Amino acid sequence: MALLIKSGTIITASETFTGDILVEGEKISSVGANLHVDGVEVIDAAGKLVLPGGIDPHVHLDLPMAGTVSSDDHYTGTKAAAFGGTTTVLDFVSQDTSPLTANVGAWRLKAEKAAIDYAAHMNITRLDQKVAGEIPDLVEEGITSLKVFTAYNGRLRLQDGEIFRVLRIARERGMITMLHAENGDVIDLLVAEALVSGHTTPEWHARTRPAWGAVEAVLRASALAAQAEAPLYIVHMNVAGEVDQLRYARERGVKVMGETCPQYLFFSIEHLRRSDGAKWLCSPPMRTPEDNDRLWKGLADGTIQTIGTDHCPFFFDGTKPITYEGTSIAIPGKELGKDDFSKVPNGLPGVGDRLPVMWTYGVRAGHITPNQFVALTSTNPAKIFGLYPRKGSLLPGADADIVIWDPERRLTYGIAYAKHRTDYNLYEGWELVGYPDKVFLRGNLIVDGDRWVGRSGMGRFIPCQPGAPAL
Ligand SMILES: [Zn+2]
Repeated sequence: MALLIKSGTIITASETFTGDILVEGEKISSVGANLHVDGVEVIDAAGKLVLPGGIDPHVHLDLPMAGTVSSDDHYTGTKAAAFGGTTTVLDFVSQDTSPLTANVGAWRLKAEKAAIDYAAHMNITRLDQKVAGEIPDLVEEGITSLKVFTAYNGRLRLQDGEIFRVLRIARERGMITMLHAENGDVIDLLVAEALVSGHTTPEWHARTRPAWGAVEAVLRASALAAQAEAPLYIVHMNVAGEVDQLRYARERGVKVMGETCPQYLFFSIEHLRRSDGAKWLCSPPMRTPEDNDRLWKGLADGTIQTIGTDHCPFFFDGTKPITYEGTSIAIPGKELGKDDFSKVPNGLPGVGDRLPVMWTYGVRAGHITPNQFVALTSTNPAKIFGLYPRKGSLLPGADADIVIWDPERRLTYGIAYAKHRTDYNLYEGWELVGYPDKVFLRGNLIVDGDRWVGRSGMGRFIPCQPGAPAL
């Protein structure tokens, strides 16, 4: 049956207006004022906001790391995302085997249990003539973005010449290169020195990954992108100087874009100094309040294009089980590094927190407008990664991924609300105003207030289209 969402305040990346949305099957069929259609289910959205479903451009689900695995898989992570108003996630395919497309096939099997729609980026962590020749095959598999690293020497890092090659191949095929920006050489030396000196607490995770390494890597990669005349996307920006370098390159016409994540807007190295500091341990690390401020300004002035999460949770204490969907579960987590920061699995929960936290502490706090909120968390990621206008829009013909948002709902957030499969939440006790009320995935209701009405396997793989615009 068709569905008519009546009288909501519709918010897109560019407009805010009162109107109705008609959903037929999996698609939005019309948007307008006073739509009258007989024989349809009607939802009165007066007093509510109507937004396109969130798109998280950066999540890691079911990712093996440091002798364990991230605690959200493609079902539990996407269910948590849905409760937070996100209806599409972009995960990463690791380069574990050859050819590249075999990795995609293996990942697709793992991802089948997703409860919301999903797409993927391909990590390029080893490059030779054969791999270079295989990259174009990814486009037919629906993968048009390639992630490279300037850190993790001997594991994930490519050399500058290799990154330059990837950028050129990507440009030729209408793909986009993504960069993890840190300096692996400096980090390796500092970590070794810290451990020899007996500096083992989580704070040293940040102290051995200096901000300058991120800053110079952003400029270096932007320069490579300029020389390759290729687009580039900097993931999880966390330092003020990175924003400055991004702006510098963009002002000179380089097609470089940036993403930040909520954790880099709200937290700093001070959190790593707490007795439970490992909860905040991720790479790159949290920096300083001055960096938080500069990132907010970068979002507000359009220097930064997207907000992702880098969702990659681990239990804080994986020896103590939690109850998840009625079953007791414990997965080894941060306790693996209780005596050595370099053994703490790197990563945080966040996919479900993103929209609610950014609404209260981004929009309501006056850092960004409601339209910027939609652009940063949905429309821009869809455009940059070739999913628009099917995703990230409320246009006729788009997938009916819709969030009805209650702007008046007040709650004290934390693990009582967040549905991540882990034992803590970074925003425990934070007061929120505004929260998703109903979430639709391709016209199907999957979250109804506090009730889960979605299911494993409802998510669909969405191929990214090549030739997406640089924003
Ligand atoms: Zn990541």
